Amino acid sequence: MADFSLDLNEDQLTIQKWVHDFSVDVIRPVAAKYDELEETPWDVIQEAANVGLYSLDFVSNAFADPTGLTFALMSEELAWGDAGIGLAIMGTTLGVSGIIGSGTPEQIGEWLPECFGTPEKIHMAAFAVSEADAGSDVSSLRTRAVYDAATDEWVINGAKTWITNGGIEKVPTVHVVVASVEPELKSRGHASFVVPPGTKGLSMGQKFSKMGIRASHTAEVIFDDVRVPGRCLLGGKEKLDARIARAREGKSSKVQAAMSTFEASRPLVGAQALGIARAAYEYALDYAKDRKAFGRAIIENQSIAFKLADMKISIDAARLLVWRACWMGHNGKQFTSGEGSMSKLVAGEVAVKVTDEAIQILGGAGYVKDHPVEQWHRDSKIYTIFEGTSEIQRLVVARAISGIHIS
Ligand SMILES: Cc1cc2nc3c(=O)[nH]c(=O)nc-3n(C[C@H](O)[C@H](O)[C@H](O)COP(=O)(O)OP(=O)(O)OC[C@H]3O[C@@H](n4cnc5c(N)ncnc54)[C@H](O)[C@@H]3O)c2cc1C
Repeated sequence: MADFSLDLNEDQLTIQKWVHDFSVDVIRPVAAKYDELEETPWDVIQEAANVGLYSLDFVSNAFADPTGLTFALMSEELAWGDAGIGLAIMGTTLGVSGIIGSGTPEQIGEWLPECFGTPEKIHMAAFAVSEADAGSDVSSLRTRAVYDAATDEWVINGAKTWITNGGIEKVPTVHVVVASVEPELKSRGHASFVVPPGTKGLSMGQKFSKMGIRASHTAEVIFDDVRVPGRCLLGGKEKLDARIARAREGKSSKVQAAMSTFEASRPLVGAQALGIARAAYEYALDYAKDRKAFGRAIIENQSIAFKLADMKISIDAARLLVWRACWMGHNGKQFTSGEGSMSKLVAGEVAVKVTDEAIQILGGAGYVKDHPVEQWHRDSKIYTIFEGTSEIQRLVVARAISGIHIS
């Protein structure tokens, strides 16, 4: 087990600087353009692949860091550059987490390279859980997967919504989909499937126009008699049958398909929120030192200086929660108080508050597009919604600390 330390080691510092420089040189110069265009930044993703940032190798090395911090460092730096573009680069890791969370070692070995492709031929991945009537309430999802024993295939029907990278056809895209195999068992009857790129019957529905993170692609995904081979059931049929038999007997089960992925990814989503908050804090600090009103820099007013102090304090506090959760998750520590949810909740709410205060500090300049803070505020809001809303994170923490099934 790795010790928890706030002293980043040489490797971590090198990667942090490398990703930061990528954000400065490649992401920031086009951030406002892609926010305006609301298109996937293919040129940035291509450059990230060329330098090895968008690659299975990089992600594997980051995951291999025994402290669990490298991925959080990378996430914060990319979102510091631009959260939407950062998510366009990182969104594939949602699908990857779905495969790692439920797949066998053979499936992980087979599908992870398919998620990234190569710099010559980029691939992507998506993780599709949410449906129109099943967002927070994942147990209500209606997408069905039925086993066809004659062909050893699973037949998937249903519609997913708000899916990051969902239905992208420009590059081969691996979809990891959570579907119900035993509806009467609710979430205990769910299973995850890989839908390989180009599978017949999978298509993109509506592509959503969003308030923020507009460079990240969000769309509906339709499954119309999608047939995947038996080997695409993550974890395998034997394990699924055993889990379902246990659920039918009313015995407890530790694993729910979507939940195991969210537990691992929430602190990293929190790290992205931190990147936006830090960008806004730094920008507002510089502005407050430059901007003069009543013959002095506005930072000389305690009301402005205290805002900046509170912004810095809340960002640092949130980062401690994010790093703790990353370290715990990576070192097999149980989240006994919902520490993963806690970290994402605090970081998301800090990002919304800090970007709001940054606009306030810039005054009129904060409200117009000449400065990036209004975009950062729009970008920040998703962090109290996706990967579990703030209310759901509080529910997870409340249940964990009380042992009571609070609803
Ligand atoms: C840009 C974007 C990207 C996304 N990417 C993905 C993706 O890649 N894959 C994916 O599967 N999903 C994705 N989502 C979906 C996202 O995870 C859901 O929107 C989110 O979980 C909330 O679900 P909902 O929108 O249905 O809200 P609802 O569940 O309808 O909630 C509405 C409100 O009610 C509150 N609420 C609901 N239940 C309770 C309760 N029990 N107690 C207290 N309050 C409650 C919620 O907190 C919220 O305030 C994405 C969404 C967006 C907007």
